[in-house]
Amino acid sequence: MRRGFLGGTFNPPHLGHVRAAAKAAKELGLEALYVIPAGIPPHKELPEGGAAGDQRLEMARLAFRDIPGLEVLDWEIRRAGKSYTADTVERLLSEDPEGELWMLCGTDMFETLPDWYRGDWLLRTLHVAAYPRKAGEEARIDALAEEYRREYGARTRRIGVRALDVSSTELRELLHRGKGASLLPKEVYRYILKNRLYAVRPEPDALWELVRPWYKKSRIPHVEGCRRTAVALARRWGADELDAENAAILHDITKKMPVEEQLQYCEKRGNINFSYHPEYEAALHAFSGAAAAALEFGVSPEVEDAIRWHTTGRADMSLLEKIIWLADYIEPGRTTPGVEEVRRLAESDLDEALRRALKNSLRHLEEQSWTPHPATREALAFLCRGEVGK
Ligand code: ATP
Repeated sequence: MRRGFLGGTFNPPHLGHVRAAAKAAKELGLEALYVIPAGIPPHKELPEGGAAGDQRLEMARLAFRDIPGLEVLDWEIRRAGKSYTADTVERLLSEDPEGELWMLCGTDMFETLPDWYRGDWLLRTLHVAAYPRKAGEEARIDALAEEYRREYGARTRRIGVRALDVSSTELRELLHRGKGASLLPKEVYRYILKNRLYAVRPEPDALWELVRPWYKKSRIPHVEGCRRTAVALARRWGADELDAENAAILHDITKKMPVEEQLQYCEKRGNINFSYHPEYEAALHAFSGAAAAALEFGVSPEVEDAIRWHTTGRADMSLLEKIIWLADYIEPGRTTPGVEEVRRLAESDLDEALRRALKNSLRHLEEQSWTPHPATREALAFLCRGEVGK
């Protein structure tokens, strides 16, 4: 049988890994391809506070699931001690001693192969398929292949992959800056957000793509308006624009969800002290939305709070909370009486804008004979006492 394997730390697996594996499997005509995440890589330190072995395993399963005949193996994750490729190869060979076994690797690994534990044995025993990680590495691969053939009788082949110049190390850095989603399989990105790996901050466009199905079609223009307004306000008032954009994108995510499901999110999150009263039904989606945003998309506590208080407000709101509250109130689709004045004020005096808008809201609720949530009165009272910025 012609089989292949790809080892690595996959911390996280990215499209460079996936595309190369798919191309190699096809070009070599592999009947089976194994992806084998390392438990303890012999040649590099795993970064502190990163993904656990089981999480890397799960991400690998998600990343490579569309490649036919591919299986992710947990051998190295489960094995004690350093994950030497030679041990894995022994096991693979024992399963099919007559078969042809290919090791897949990028230029960087191909280059160092002779220095690995039992590297010369690996080069004599395996077939090796190498491919470029960066454009223009073909000549280097060919030179190494010639050297290995002469020295070890190695059987190698260069795979024609269009290089995607990215590494997991760079990706972890990008993810923390709210970038990098396009370099990852979608499901891996979703997993990273959900589990808040690598101190990820959602990338707004990628988050929006994931979140859109949570909204009713008719709500989309409101969310988009809110998103633009939140970014503009954040820029005007010196708040974190990425947090503002993400909070706006997520602020209404549970709005179309049945009450029962919303309450489940609140309960699961555990930190939401909200005993549900039907009279405050309008506020429930903010509490459940914050819980869902944290549980499903791993947002930071600041963003979670901005979503949580976007309907009621509260005393002593943070700058981000004020921005999301007001963005929701003044986004271009809103036509509430008095909104024009609040829009103008939001440019010159954020607290005055909020005070005016809170007053309008309370008046509107009273006119409708709805009971305002107590937090809304507290928000207004706080602003009126002049305790702003405390
Ligand atoms: P790190 O940044 O942590 O070193 P990495 O991106 O190099 O990670 P690994 O999991 O160590 O990823 O790599 C596993 C295998 O995938 C290696 O054979 C490596 O050469 C190959 N590889 C890594 N990045 C790419 C890429 N962009 N294109 C093709 N192959 C790649």
